[in-house]
Amino acid sequence: MWAKNPFIRVASTVPVLLILFIFGFEWYAFNCVFVLRGLGRWQGESQLLAFARVFVFNATWLLALWSFLRCALSDPGFVPSWWLDQQERCPEATGNSSFGWQPGKPTTCHKCNERRPERAHHCSICGKCVMRMDHHCPWVGNCVGAKNHKYFILMLIYGMTSALAYVVAARPIIISLFVPRARYLTRGTMGPGGFGIFSMGAVLAASLCLAMSLLFFSHLWLMAVNRTSIEVAYSGRNPYSLGIFRNAQQLCGRCGFDWLLPVSPHQPMTDGCAYPVFSDYEAELSDV
Ligand SMILES: [Zn+2]
Ligand SMILES: [Zn+2]
Repeated sequence: MWAKNPFIRVASTVPVLLILFIFGFEWYAFNCVFVLRGLGRWQGESQLLAFARVFVFNATWLLALWSFLRCALSDPGFVPSWWLDQQERCPEATGNSSFGWQPGKPTTCHKCNERRPERAHHCSICGKCVMRMDHHCPWVGNCVGAKNHKYFILMLIYGMTSALAYVVAARPIIISLFVPRARYLTRGTMGPGGFGIFSMGAVLAASLCLAMSLLFFSHLWLMAVNRTSIEVAYSGRNPYSLGIFRNAQQLCGRCGFDWLLPVSPHQPMTDGCAYPVFSDYEAELSDV
């Protein structure tokens, strides 16, 4: 969405539109085919279970879509003008743009020809430096950085949960794909067309659930150890790791209800430009 090159900007909308189509297809297959046409099959089941199934799918689907849109449309953490102004007033030496930990040291980007805060990296697609850059994600058409990494993680957990709710609801249909007699029994309630749409939705949901769970657990680990996908390759002890809880607070803000929602942290613990290091880091440096 923020690509510098107009051609790349237009091209990057294609995967985003595909994801939006998948969101719409899954919603239609679950609600308009499975719930509306398949209600008769629930007569023998607990009404509470049937309601819970519909609620969990729709609530997590909505939260996943909200998180996706926030992640795609938000500023990922481009270097703010106030920080650049501050740097102009304090022309102290910057660190070299070397590959490794450089806590507390602004560096100079040779592509932007401007200073950037610690942990910032240049994105060649956005054509800008992004604070605490993780990666440029083509599926959201945006960089994932200091300001939208929280939305990215929420998108994965809610997307994974809604896909799982679909798969659980579609259990008999998935079984029926492999057992012809069962197919005959379940197809009757939805009609052949509805059965086909819901089956496609079930296979898609199972694939998405698997892919998103792998991605979710890897980003959960990155958040817990306070590293980005770029910093994973850095050697040596991570100076920014302050413990799992404080590391999570750097992405999501002070612990509160807003951790669960794709909104800006109510009480942010960092401005994205500077990050605390563990208490004996200076002592450890002097020992080396
Ligand atoms: Zn740059
Ligand atoms: Zn980017």
